[in-house]
Amino acid sequence: MPKIPAGFTELTCLQLDRIVESTGEPSYRAGQLRKWIYQRLAISYDEMTDLPLAFRERLSRQIRLHSLVPVHIATGNDGTVKTLFQLVDGQTVESALMFYDGVGENGRYTVCVSTQVGCAVGCSFCATGRQGFERNLTPGEIIDQVLYFAHYLKEEVKKNNSSPKNNKNTRISNIVFMGMGEPLANYDNLWQAIEMLNSPEGFGLGARNMVISTSGLVPQIKRLAEEKLQVGLAVSLHAAENELRNKLVPINKKYPLEKLIPACREYSRLSGRRLSFEYALFKGLNDSLTQAQALAELIKGLKCHVNLIPANRISGSSFAPPSHGAVLAFENELKRCHINVTLRQRRGQDIDAGCGQLRSRFLKNAEDNIIKSVLAEKV
Ligand code: SAH
Ligand code: SF4
Repeated sequence: MPKIPAGFTELTCLQLDRIVESTGEPSYRAGQLRKWIYQRLAISYDEMTDLPLAFRERLSRQIRLHSLVPVHIATGNDGTVKTLFQLVDGQTVESALMFYDGVGENGRYTVCVSTQVGCAVGCSFCATGRQGFERNLTPGEIIDQVLYFAHYLKEEVKKNNSSPKNNKNTRISNIVFMGMGEPLANYDNLWQAIEMLNSPEGFGLGARNMVISTSGLVPQIKRLAEEKLQVGLAVSLHAAENELRNKLVPINKKYPLEKLIPACREYSRLSGRRLSFEYALFKGLNDSLTQAQALAELIKGLKCHVNLIPANRISGSSFAPPSHGAVLAFENELKRCHINVTLRQRRGQDIDAGCGQLRSRFLKNAEDNIIKSVLAEKV
């Protein structure tokens, strides 16, 4: 029997097929198992009643179904649900489920997924960046964040006879890799997770409904451009000149704008996909009209979209959002320069929903004690 990785969602289709083969069960059992996990969102082997009991018992001794234990759940006034998970080695990561209104009752549920514990890029305004880097998440740990929220939605629908916010959709419609960590610094694990989330044998979500956000890792952007799956790309720009970007997003010292922007142009040309630029507005730092013009000049001619996000305040930092008037003026200046731009609402402001904020609070409050007590309550 081949060596079995600990978690079900760590397995590629091929690996699961081989495991099933080695048990002597017919090969279609692998498909049945995948269907239970990725589509029916089973959380225990007991639910899989169309599989022989002995087979289920054997598997349950060898393959763990889930790798995340929710240790804190917060719901915001706007419907955002934020969950802090403990991983098998005691580390913690956070993810969020966000609801966006759509036409009629066709709203969208988007899961914001973490890809690393902490982050090595160390952006000065980011709660995750301040935590330092611990480790990459495995493919299964990435996938399990999505399955957790898909299951959460399913349970909410069962409980209330309708989905939260009376939405017609009851499924996750979008995944954004914008939680903790730099996704492209964990490329191989991220990609294995994306393939499974996309596969009709897996979660079955269209690649176009997924977006990877990066601080600007140039070699990986080039690699992404060659991938067949049409996953979207968002580049966290935040400044249109190197001196300021070096301070905000330190990876800029390694991959300055004169490398990053041509890589984005190349990505757009090779992939034919439109990319987004994220521009967080920080009061007095990057919010002047001259800086809006410099941004427009930098990305001129690129098939792209700019998302403006007023900064999230994080504790212990002086970074602050500009006034609403200044935000609108910046947006209008970009429009005047013929840039596609959208002003994004901040989500879950009342529940530390910014990247890494919830974990930061837990770390500060002596993470171990709190989490141990939460876990003790659950048992
Ligand atoms: N590491 C990746 C993805 C995770 S961060 C990246 O940097 O793109 C997701 C987004 O949140 C990035 O655009 C990041 O710049 C932004 N972000 C982090 N802290 C923020 C804050 N305090 N205010 C506004 N945006 C923030
Ligand atoms: Fe890392 Fe992104 Fe935070 Fe920068 S903004 S520290 S790259 S998670």
